[in-house]
Amino acid sequence: MSYTPPLRDLAFDLAHVVGGARLMQTAAFPGYDGDTQAAVLEAAGRFARDVLAPLNRAGDTTGSRIENGVVRTPAGFADAYRAFAAAGWNGLTASPDHGGQGLPRALALAAFETVHGANMAFGLCPLLTQSAIEALSAFGSDRQKALYLTRLVTGEWTGTMNLTEPQSGSDLAGIRTRADPAVDGHFRLFGQKIFITWGDHDMSGNIVHLVLARTPGAPEGTKGISLFLVPKMLVHEDGSPGNANHVRPSGIEHKLGIHASPTCSMMFDGAQAELVGDLNNGLAQMFTMMNAARLQVGMEGVGIAERAFQQALAYSFERRQGHSAWTGEYPAPIVDHPDIRRMLMLMKSRIVAARGLCLSTAVAADFADAASDAGERKSARLRAELLTPIAKAWATDAGVEIASLALQIHGGMGYIEETGVAQCFRDARIAPIYEGTNGIQAIDLVSRKLASEGGQAMGEVRAEIMDCVATMRAMPTGELSGFAERLEVAMSAAWTAAQWLQEAQMKSRSDSLAGATPFLNLLGDTIGGWMLAKGALAALRMDTAARSRVRVGLARFYGEHVLARSSGLAASAMAGDTDLRAVAPRDMVPG
Ligand SMILES: Cc1cc2nc3c(=O)[nH]c(=O)nc-3n(C[C@H](O)[C@H](O)[C@H](O)COP(=O)(O)OP(=O)(O)OC[C@H]3O[C@@H](n4cnc5c(N)ncnc54)[C@H](O)[C@@H]3O)c2cc1C
Repeated sequence: MSYTPPLRDLAFDLAHVVGGARLMQTAAFPGYDGDTQAAVLEAAGRFARDVLAPLNRAGDTTGSRIENGVVRTPAGFADAYRAFAAAGWNGLTASPDHGGQGLPRALALAAFETVHGANMAFGLCPLLTQSAIEALSAFGSDRQKALYLTRLVTGEWTGTMNLTEPQSGSDLAGIRTRADPAVDGHFRLFGQKIFITWGDHDMSGNIVHLVLARTPGAPEGTKGISLFLVPKMLVHEDGSPGNANHVRPSGIEHKLGIHASPTCSMMFDGAQAELVGDLNNGLAQMFTMMNAARLQVGMEGVGIAERAFQQALAYSFERRQGHSAWTGEYPAPIVDHPDIRRMLMLMKSRIVAARGLCLSTAVAADFADAASDAGERKSARLRAELLTPIAKAWATDAGVEIASLALQIHGGMGYIEETGVAQCFRDARIAPIYEGTNGIQAIDLVSRKLASEGGQAMGEVRAEIMDCVATMRAMPTGELSGFAERLEVAMSAAWTAAQWLQEAQMKSRSDSLAGATPFLNLLGDTIGGWMLAKGALAALRMDTAARSRVRVGLARFYGEHVLARSSGLAASAMAGDTDLRAVAPRDMVPG
């Protein structure tokens, strides 16, 4: 199945919806202008369409395998990776001091939507490499930057993130991997990590593992965890690879989707390791890596949803069944049935909303570093922190739901593997689980992000949404006034729920935890609606009839079919935990 990179939508959203044009004016990104943006998106889209998409199906059917202790990737993946690295895609956002291109995260994220959409399993390898680049840029020593970071930026080597252990998944306090100091100034790591994405493979010359472990006598819990760098092949001071380190994949998982991405169990049998950053500060440092990865995972949701949507739309033109509800034609293409049209509109409007949400988060993260004014930097940082869990969870849930709708539109053919849409559904399902499950994202939102710095970010988002509502109301044509009403009601519901949850947080934490996921869904729906509003207003301002018909139509549909649920979600968010305890879990056991 072919994949068409949605370059027009990406360019439009960057320029007119999320504030990319303002980024072009900051001194921090001297190389970012309209021509660069167009060239990057065009080249990424071409690579995704012509090189990565054709490998997607074979990657799924063949999968990565482990042979004699070494992981082999499906045919074509290693060549594609070499071409990918040679084109400089790993280093888009890295500093020019380390060989990168110094471009904003927002542009890189837009380019990577096409990679994830074309071949999600492949995209995970650079996703983790970029996260390792972020962590080493922030916390690596000068030597680690010269030796490892520069080679991650060129793509010569790839990176991994090693957190999970059998007894320690969401709760990283339980990590047991041990880091013993050695006489040579290094550490020796002992332990097992599980579920490590691209933990071993044959695509690059070396692999740089970033690993959480404990030193002897370190405090219990999360305060005693440090971050270590463990190369697969030991590295001489001139950067040339030496002997194999004592780290190896002991197996790879058989799993529902992303078969080409090897999910490895990793054994550390006295592996030589170096400390990254400060002792016992590893978890905080790893969060730098995880926040970058969380946003990318949100974009995986968008990419896979876009791919599934394209396939469903094409099928809905071809497949004929029954009478058209509108023209009476028989047999009519199924796209002429209102229920199919409803699903397509739901898919497309949620994709546009989720894309805007993810790109907005990236723009905020860019301004958090790049704005010239300290107040603006702080406001942008708080916004990026507020939006990151929503972008991760809301966009990945959308990815699964949209892939499921695409399958539904295919009828029985959707359930049959050769159409390819079933692969989208299977691949999409992991994204709500890894990088912190979506339940954990909702808890992070409610417990930490909402009230951060007196709730500044939430207050600023609300004010901007209300400005947008006022602009839509003031339009003489009135074509967005119904949508403005829906958006205002949703924002008001989200605000009321946010206040309730913050009070509950003080009085009865379990009440606020019980409402966390419905609240994230409510705020995600609302911010998604804001993105659609901004897109519709921009399209109308630009006066291109075709585009404004699409953007206004999507916004209006979203108002009636997504935002209309806001009062129900608010009620769930504020229901507390009483009804959750109405039935004892043991009483639900059958028999
Ligand atoms: C394909 C794949 C690739 C992965 N890649 C990597 C990788 O590269 N590196 C890495 O380190 N890990 C990786 N992981 C691991 C992944 O991040 C974890 O699976 C995930 O964090 C959840 O941990 P867990 O599986 O132990 O689930 P658990 O923590 O056991 O959670 C089970 C359920 O309980 C819920 N839950 C847990 N704690 C709480 C709580 N306090 N409050 C409310 N609900 C809670 C969760 O939301 C979930 O629904 C990968 C996993 C998979 C399947």
